[in-house]
Amino acid sequence: MKVAIDGPAGAGKSTLAKAVAKKLGFVYIDTGAMYRAIGLYMLDRKVELSDETALKAALDDVKLDIAYENDAQQVYLNGENVTGRIRTEAAGDMASKVSTLLPVREKLVMLQQEMAERIDVVMDGRDIGTVVLPNAELKVYFTAGSRVRAERRFKELSEKGITGITVEEIEEEIIARDYRDMHREHSPLKQAEDAILVDSSDLTIEEGVERVIALINERR
Ligand code: C5P
Repeated sequence: MKVAIDGPAGAGKSTLAKAVAKKLGFVYIDTGAMYRAIGLYMLDRKVELSDETALKAALDDVKLDIAYENDAQQVYLNGENVTGRIRTEAAGDMASKVSTLLPVREKLVMLQQEMAERIDVVMDGRDIGTVVLPNAELKVYFTAGSRVRAERRFKELSEKGITGITVEEIEEEIIARDYRDMHREHSPLKQAEDAILVDSSDLTIEEGVERVIALINERR
């Protein structure tokens, strides 16, 4: 069975997808992590994205491996475990930029489709229901208002002791990232026609998980 979860940054997709996969014994595949790893490669090597030859050479050199250690997805970039390093704001921002490029998308979509071929998966991203797994048995579009998402992110950062950024600034970044993801030429973020909309603005994580599990059970 294939479950596709799409939606904007910060709606809680990965927390939801991870919890649903764990409850059902499915494999959780975080596709954003793959775009982040490519973004990190471009940052580390200072690749000029507008230089087509340099981009092609970089993509030919990138070797991405996804492994599962203690149930947690690990991302290896040319042999280095970058699972921690891809979580910075800089890597996220670069991921959003590289994800507009067709050669990057083609490489990753192929890898994602191969991974989902033989196993039960919950996959989250932006184009899973529309491009990667168009035949998924369940497609969920998981969203929340930009203010709610900014407040959640602010809380997360405060808990980590990271200060110096306001909720308003975070919301501005979220709106800019949404705009870029929704208006890019290739595979823009949008709700698939057959996806079910779940708005997490007023839901706890547990309620979101229960709702999605109920939708899966209706389809099994
Ligand atoms: O989900 P996450 O925030 O980690 O993804 C980082 C970036 O990768 C997103 O802003 C989006 O631009 C891109 N992405 C994508 N398609 C996916 C997953 C992520 O374009 N399937």
